Amino acid sequence: MDNRILLRMCKMSGNEIRYINEAFRDEWVVPLGPNVSGFEKDLEAFLGEDKKVVALSSGTAALHLGLIDLGVGEGDEVMVQSMTFSASVNPIRYLGAVPVLVDSEPLTWNMDASLLDSAIADRLEKTGRLPKAIVTVCLYGMPNDYDAILKVAGKWNIPVLEDAAEAFGSSFRSQRCGTFGEYGVLSFNGNKMITTSGGGALVCPDESAARKTMYYATQARLGYAYYQHEEVGYNYRMSNICAGIGRGQMTVAEEYIAHHRHRHAYYREHLAPLKGITLHDNPDSRFDSNFWLSTILIDPELRVKGEDDAYSAAVTQAIGGAGGVTEAGASVHTDCEPNTNVEAIRIGMAKEGIETRPLWKPMHRQPVFSKFPSYVNGVSESLFHRGLCLPSGPYVSDADADRVIKTLKSLIR
Ligand SMILES: *Cc1c(COP(=O)(O)O)cnc(C)c1O
Repeated sequence: MDNRILLRMCKMSGNEIRYINEAFRDEWVVPLGPNVSGFEKDLEAFLGEDKKVVALSSGTAALHLGLIDLGVGEGDEVMVQSMTFSASVNPIRYLGAVPVLVDSEPLTWNMDASLLDSAIADRLEKTGRLPKAIVTVCLYGMPNDYDAILKVAGKWNIPVLEDAAEAFGSSFRSQRCGTFGEYGVLSFNGNKMITTSGGGALVCPDESAARKTMYYATQARLGYAYYQHEEVGYNYRMSNICAGIGRGQMTVAEEYIAHHRHRHAYYREHLAPLKGITLHDNPDSRFDSNFWLSTILIDPELRVKGEDDAYSAAVTQAIGGAGGVTEAGASVHTDCEPNTNVEAIRIGMAKEGIETRPLWKPMHRQPVFSKFPSYVNGVSESLFHRGLCLPSGPYVSDADADRVIKTLKSLIR
């Protein structure tokens, strides 16, 4: 590798290949086998709380099946955190259901429980029906305030689907994220806390829910000698090869989580003297984020070198190393974008080979979802204008963090 510092890259422990070799030796290269069940057992032990875990092809697939398990269908409404990655919302649309987007509160950046409460009351008044589910998201690893969220969910008796894709290893009141809802979602995509190259899991409340999830994940086949189907199914199970990578990653999961917390503490110590830069942190002792990404807010008043040219050129490739194909944007600007000082810092860092990224743009400001109902208090949009994600992965060393901090300082006027 060159001397670039990337936002996040997963790291192999060396143990993955052992499990993959076993899979090849025993010809278990299909979506079942000892690595799949072994990985699920590892995850159940890791999460605690007596949950059943079903390994799937992605976190998005897990969200999709979780919604199906909760009975979400055409025309149903689902409350969902607006400040998130699009994958929290897309599966609601796969089902023809209606996402109702709820804004954040400033401490966790996650769903505002009192806004959720009044939004549910308003949906009931407007539609005569209660929403079918509440999708919470532990953004950048920060747990939701589950004291407040679960109180509202309990009051209305609406099940929670917890999107903990970014929060593997985070906890709230010493309970691990992914276990707070009726169902929970984990992701093992190439940029998450641990990876299976691509994959995810649905955390289920019990054995029968897990069996039902497996049934939907394997084309909804009924028990006959021939193929018999009464429902639409999906091909969402994790392969035994990918699960082998997952088992290898589980041998170092605690180490990686500790590394991310160290990375965050190091940034905290060294960014503290910088005026106008605020590191996002655990609001109080109930929260223990995995700090999957360390993120900062930049004061709009902070003057930064290169601000005047910040939006002078279109971004020509996808920002970030995760790959995939992006369509070219139609213009340099959209009607909701990071402040010029944030973009100037991003460009200034990129010139020094340091990858940063704006915060996730709220879903109620995304053209694809803007026509759906939203309950907004301005928090997520204000965060998006001011925020930036810093390099945080297992490859980011103290020396790398020093370079990030030094470059950031040099950009402030
Ligand atoms: C990554 C991510 C997902 C989707 O997980 P995949 O495994 O990539 O499908 C869902 N929600 C959030 C918040 C994510 O960050």
